[in-house]
Amino acid sequence: VAKPDPLLVVDGLRRSFGGLLAVHVEHLEIQRGAITALIGPNGAGKSTLFNVISGFDKPTEGRWSFAGKPVTGMAAHRIARGGLVRTFQLTRTLSRMTVLDNMRLAAPDQRGERLPFALLPPLWLAGERAITARADELLDRFRLSHLRDEYAGTLSGGQRKLLEMARALLTDPVMVLLDEPMSGVNPALAESLLEHLTGLRDEGMTVCFVEHDMDVVMGVSDWVVCMADGAVVAEGPPHTVAQNPAVIDAYLGA
Ligand code: ADP
Ligand code: MG
Repeated sequence: VAKPDPLLVVDGLRRSFGGLLAVHVEHLEIQRGAITALIGPNGAGKSTLFNVISGFDKPTEGRWSFAGKPVTGMAAHRIARGGLVRTFQLTRTLSRMTVLDNMRLAAPDQRGERLPFALLPPLWLAGERAITARADELLDRFRLSHLRDEYAGTLSGGQRKLLEMARALLTDPVMVLLDEPMSGVNPALAESLLEHLTGLRDEGMTVCFVEHDMDVVMGVSDWVVCMADGAVVAEGPPHTVAQNPAVIDAYLGA
């Protein structure tokens, strides 16, 4: 379905694992400034699609563009620098580092990246301070400030999810891909996570998230894309997708 202002456009994307065609998306557009929910039964190809789009995996075939620029085949860090950032279904926080250091790790290395920074220590020091300030701001926003100097390994599963999300936001991305951000998060934290999603959208960020709970999807998303067996089988506003026979089939058949 064509969108008025697509930020991410995917064409003819395929990813096979041996004989298994895990993803085959003919055409998909993600609207800028909206919350898009990606639903579909286990094994539908949602994580694989995120992996490919974000540069963590290579497609077998196909191309995609972000903000009007082709990004096909680019490494994940280049795609992230372009403003498209993702989180993982299984969090990637480093347990033997503090929460703050986990945050700071998400920032691009100021020293190595650009020559002027390397030559002018005061400049990168200022950069480091700015990163710490931004990290603290996000930790505060996700109510993790009190854990700032704790090892990430001491966090609950839900807190790790929040840390993962805070980390993704450190570089002020244009769009975030969130793979099951709510799974394993207790109801109170999940509620605040949902508020963060709408808050980010209201600030102009584009959000695409994988979620299984249809009540959550109905409540928060502007648009829903349903995958089954690697393909997009339906998309539309939440209420229409919930009643779409292809969507009902996908879940009953699983
Ligand atoms: P979802 O996130 O929708 O649950 P996935 O993208 O994780 O689905 O998986 C889609 C299909 O691809 C599944 O059948 C899964 O077993 C397979 N798959 C995913 N990653 C790999 C891999 N690295 N090697 C082999 N098969 C994989
Ligand atoms: Mg998955």
